[in-house]
Amino acid sequence: MSAGLESSVRDFCRREVRALDIDERHSISGSVLDGLRELGLFGATLPPDWGGSGLSALEATKLIATLAQFDRSVATTVGLHLGLGTRGLVAYGDRSQQERWLPRLASGECLAAFATTEPGAGSDLSALETTAREVDGGLVLHGTKLYVTNGGLCSLLTVTARTPGLGGARHGTSLLLVDPQQRGVVRQREERKLGLRGSSTTAFAFDDCRLERAAVLGEPGSGARQLVEVLSWGRLLLSAGCTGTARTALTAALAHVHARKQFRRPLLAQPVVQHQLSRAWALTFGMRALVEAAAVRQAELPALARLTTSAKVFCSEAAGWVTDLALQLHGGSGYIEDTGLAILVRDARVTRIFEGANDVLLTHAGQEALTHSTPDEVLGEVAAVNDAVKARRTSLCADPASPGLRALTKRAELHALGQAVVWRDAAVAATRAARTPEERAAAGLLQSEALRVATAATFPDASVETLTTALREGMVP
Ligand SMILES: Cc1cc2nc3c(=O)[nH]c(=O)nc-3n(C[C@H](O)[C@H](O)[C@H](O)COP(=O)(O)OP(=O)(O)OC[C@H]3O[C@@H](n4cnc5c(N)ncnc54)[C@H](O)[C@@H]3O)c2cc1C
Repeated sequence: MSAGLESSVRDFCRREVRALDIDERHSISGSVLDGLRELGLFGATLPPDWGGSGLSALEATKLIATLAQFDRSVATTVGLHLGLGTRGLVAYGDRSQQERWLPRLASGECLAAFATTEPGAGSDLSALETTAREVDGGLVLHGTKLYVTNGGLCSLLTVTARTPGLGGARHGTSLLLVDPQQRGVVRQREERKLGLRGSSTTAFAFDDCRLERAAVLGEPGSGARQLVEVLSWGRLLLSAGCTGTARTALTAALAHVHARKQFRRPLLAQPVVQHQLSRAWALTFGMRALVEAAAVRQAELPALARLTTSAKVFCSEAAGWVTDLALQLHGGSGYIEDTGLAILVRDARVTRIFEGANDVLLTHAGQEALTHSTPDEVLGEVAAVNDAVKARRTSLCADPASPGLRALTKRAELHALGQAVVWRDAAVAATRAARTPEERAAAGLLQSEALRVATAATFPDASVETLTTALREGMVP
């Protein structure tokens, strides 16, 4: 993002964006949305040929991080539009689809949303039931989608649906472009949420919804492959939003611990507080470094997908920790809404759930590490951490109970391996990005924490079995 755009965005947000008002009204005002349109933010990453600014993924992360410093609902509305909402159309749309939609999406006249989650298919996308069948040269769509961000604002939905037989694929999934105003689409009421209250979230029902064949994005039946790219962009921008939130929380915490005196000195003089804030500093630096490391791999889809998974998990967990610390250091005042800390905690919470629940992504990261090892030369800077990750991987594969690839069934161990991979990726990114003494200190802190995570033991299987049996029988202590 150019310095000019960044300062315009900052000026606008300082002037117009009031996070607590947005939270209280449960919506972003028309004038703020108009201002975002005038700044050209809804076209930021869309191609210049269709009226967008063609920003790179890296520039887009800076934009979303800046917005999130002021309000997470605003950042989510823009980020969803640029990521999940329009990425499929940009990457896989044909000329006529792009001509029809992109100019209005770039100007912000139309907002985009993305609908995958269903009542029976959240983390498990293989359970999708929404289906589009070929009828009379077109398609008929049936199904229900839940929790669609930008649902109440959007004029274009990218819908994931089963498309049996389409393009010759018996069990294929496709991404479909659907106009939510058309017959057969019912937009449900706004959801009431813990946080991100200004961001619109609705369900949709599709009942005998007739679509042209031209609604299919790219090759019919290739939705699963396209989702990798779309989700990578979504997770990248979500992670960028987390960096903005963490920065705001850390800045507020710092101001408070300087000013607030207890035991006759500022809170910052307390060694425990110094340790806590040093960790928050290191995490915030690691988040930014990992987001940048992922964003620069924009053109290398496998690396982008892997690193954006790590970034999503690391940044959402770290933002949760930093915002919680900021609230804690404010004491009682942190719990009062007017201070502006509670909203940061509430808004950050969902980032560990949406765009892939973290525990599901960690297991995927572990599976990925088991089947595709990352070359040593790429990770040389944090050799000790990487050795610990490799040792974990080797012992998992060598387990006589599940040798070799049968280790893919050991979900708890894969989850632990995923944790190690995510922390290693953050430590590598921070180590490479560190320039100043403070940044090197932060990278060192992340390395030692990554080592601890990589060598942490999992719970003994026998204890877990006993307690799971108790839970199955409905016993609680
Ligand atoms: C505010 C908000 C906005 C959203 N926006 C969108 C959107 O724009 N488009 C869209 O399609 N969806 C959206 N979602 C949906 C979101 O992506 C899903 O809620 C999420 O993927 C989790 O699915 P689920 O809610 O069905 O949880 P479930 O799949 O039922 O999982 C519940 C929990 O169980 C645990 N769990 C599940 N499986 C495993 C496993 N294999 N291993 C370990 N733990 C596991 C995790 O802790 C998980 O959080 C949004 C959700 C919210 C709350």
